Amino acid sequence: MLDADFFRRWLTTAAAAVDREADRLTELDSPIGDADHGSNLRRGFAAVTAAVEKEAPDTPGAVLMLAGRQLISTVGGASGPLYGTLLRRTGKALGDAAQVAETEFAQALRAGVDAVATLGGSAPGDKTMLDALLPGVDALSTSFAAACEAARQGALATVPLQARKGRASYLGERSVGHQDPGATSSALLFEALADTAAA
Ligand code: ADP
Ligand code: MG
Ligand code: MG
Repeated sequence: MLDADFFRRWLTTAAAAVDREADRLTELDSPIGDADHGSNLRRGFAAVTAAVEKEAPDTPGAVLMLAGRQLISTVGGASGPLYGTLLRRTGKALGDAAQVAETEFAQALRAGVDAVATLGGSAPGDKTMLDALLPGVDALSTSFAAACEAARQGALATVPLQARKGRASYLGERSVGHQDPGATSSALLFEALADTAAA
């Protein structure tokens, strides 16, 4: 079973991973975007960590909904509302249980990923964060480690794609040959989840 502390540790681990990889995320956002993805997420996850420590929500759902609100209010770019919606919707689906089973979390995260697709109007293969989120959540029924690997492969598989959503889509064919920054950060979130589960 996963409790509020598990989700708090996931977000803290994710914040550390985002901080460590921020320069790389911003570099990926340079040829096909506006070179701010790393700094956007660093600001957002720093706010998430601070809020979760200060308010200490005591259920998994409340932790994730608070984190989602922080991302929406602190990240100006497209990724803020998208990741914020991911976490808020996932948290909402978990309700007010004090502990949730891994299968319940996998179902809730699927609802969160579906909400990202609806908000972004995006589909698999559009070269967005969804290309890592969807394979990740699909593999979550197997294990956290499998989800991490599937999301990583999904991010790598964005390289040959032409972007159909977000800033990168303005480049048309010139977006081909670059890894999507949002798919890369999504893979980091799954990596943080696997690290948290293994710790
Ligand atoms: P911005 O593009 O506003 O500067 P970021 O650089 O923080 O925002 O985030 C860019 C990432 O957001 C992209 O790499 C992509 O993965 C994701 N993204 C952008 N638009 C969409 C969308 N409509 N649907 C899903 N993901 C999107
Ligand atoms: Mg950007
Ligand atoms: Mg921007």
